[in-house]
Parts: sequence; C-alpha cells; structure tokens
Amino acid sequence: MHERGELPADTDPDRLAMAILAAVQGGLVLTQVARSTEPLEIALDTVIDHVASVVERARASRAVRPRIRWAPTRGGPLNVALADQWRLLDLQAFDSRIDQLAHRRRTLPETATIAELNARRDQVRDLLVAAETEDSDIGREQVKAEADVDQVRQRAERDQKRLDAGQVSSPKELESLQHEIASLAKRQGDLEDTVLEIMERRESAQARIAELTAERDQIASDLASTTAALAAATTEIDAETATLTGERATLAGGLAGEMVTLYEKVRAGSDGVGAAALRRGRCEGCHMELSTTDLNRLRATPDDEVVRCEECRRILIRVADSGL
Ligand SMILES: [Zn+2]
Repeated sequence: MHERGELPADTDPDRLAMAILAAVQGGLVLTQVARSTEPLEIALDTVIDHVASVVERARASRAVRPRIRWAPTRGGPLNVALADQWRLLDLQAFDSRIDQLAHRRRTLPETATIAELNARRDQVRDLLVAAETEDSDIGREQVKAEADVDQVRQRAERDQKRLDAGQVSSPKELESLQHEIASLAKRQGDLEDTVLEIMERRESAQARIAELTAERDQIASDLASTTAALAAATTEIDAETATLTGERATLAGGLAGEMVTLYEKVRAGSDGVGAAALRRGRCEGCHMELSTTDLNRLRATPDDEVVRCEECRRILIRVADSGL
C-alpha cells in the first residue's frame, strides 16, 4: 500500500500493522473477560476506520494538488520585495527579446535563399556539363557528316571531269557514268540535309549552353549579394544581442540570486518564459484564469513571497491590475 502510494508518505505501515494486531489481541482478551464480542468489534471498527481515513488522506492529497505552490525550495518560501519581483518581468522581457533575435538569426530569409541558390547552382552545373557534352557529340557528328559530303562531292567532281574531258567513249559506260553522277548528286543533297539538321541541333545545344552559362553567372552574382546581405543582417542582430545581453546581466546582477536561479530553471523548461504577470486574474504565461480560491489564497499571501502559477509553474508576479 505504501509503495503504491495508497498510504501517505509519513505513515509507517509497520506501526499500522502493529495497531491492527494489538486491536485484535486486546479485543479478544476483553471479549473473553466480558463474555461479549462487543470490545473486539469496537477495537476492530476503530482501527479499520483509522486505516480508511489514512488511505483517504493519501487519496485526497494525490487528487488535489495544492493550487499554488508557494515555496520553490524545501527551505521555505522565497521572499523577495515585490518591486524586485517586478524587475523579474523586465528580465523576462530582455530574455524574450534575446530569444526572438536568436530565432530571427536562425530563420533569416537570406539563409533559405542561399540554400535555394546553391541547389540551383549545382543543378545548372550538371545541366551545363550535359549540354557541353551534347554539343561536343554533335560537333563530332557534324565533322563526320561534312566529311561524307566532301567524299561524295569529290567523287562527283572526278566523274564530271572524266565526262567533260570526253574520256568516256562507250555509250554504255557513258550512260553508267551519267547515272552515277546523278545518284551522287542525290546522295550529296541528302547528306547536306543531314549536315543542316545536325547544325540546327548544334545551334540549339549552344543556345542552351549560353542560357545556362548566363544563369550560372547570375546565380554566382545573386549568391555574392545574398551572402553579403546575410552577413550584414547577422552582424546587426549580433550587435543588438550583445547590447541586450550586457543590459540583462546588469539587471540580473541586481536581483536576488535565488530568484534569478529559480527563474532560469523554470524558463528552461517553459518555452523561454520563466516569469509571468498576473493580470486581471489571468496568468500571462499560460493564459489561464485563476480560480476564486487561488485568488483568495494569493490575497492572503504576503507581497514579498514569490509565488508560482499552479497551472504552468511559472513565477507569477502580482502587478497593479492583477485583479486581487
Ligand atoms: Zn500560468
């Protein structure tokens, strides 16, 4: 029962067991003397009622946590003049501003732009390599096609010379030569069309290279300007952070160390907000309304006692319009 939390921490199970045993034994003895079960019944009822009340106390303390945890340490309540507690809100304002600056520094738009530019730069570099490879492949294809055209033209010229020189006398041979010249002309025409088609392809490959080269240069220039803008923004944020950090340190130095330590501990586990004002009955840390009971307990708590919000555990600072 003790381990399961069914008994309060300050209850000794051995002593409780001994009490039950004593009630049974004592009850039995008296029962024999009185010749009645009444003493045993009374003893057992009493001890069972006691166990039940102890269990109930444990259950109640589990179910209802104290609404306001007054003392942050076991050493008793932390007492700090209310005016100094207010300055904890100033400290919180410094820390929130410093946190905002750190967040802004991490999420500067230039950082995302640079990442995008770098990615596109790598893409363009690969596309450029592919376009240049294609261009040089087409170039080789063109040289070969032009050589083919040359070969056919030379052969046709040779044939034409033979024909012009009248070296061919046999009508059959003449006919064959004329036929060959005609078919060479046709072949040359086809090959020249191929060369033209290759040149067109090469032109578009080279246009693509020019386009990608221009984009690559534009990216390089954008990267340079964005990197400079990022450096400028970062420097500005760092300077503001340094100023605020200095002012914060001065402020913190003038506050009760125990309160600042508690504040920092709470802040670390509460999204950067360690202290919050109580304004119009509402904790500005978690935005929960305090119950009437809590407000009444706060009214009865000395001003210089550091209190915490039961809901979010932040240090709750009572201000002029707390609604108390
Ligand atoms: Zn709260």
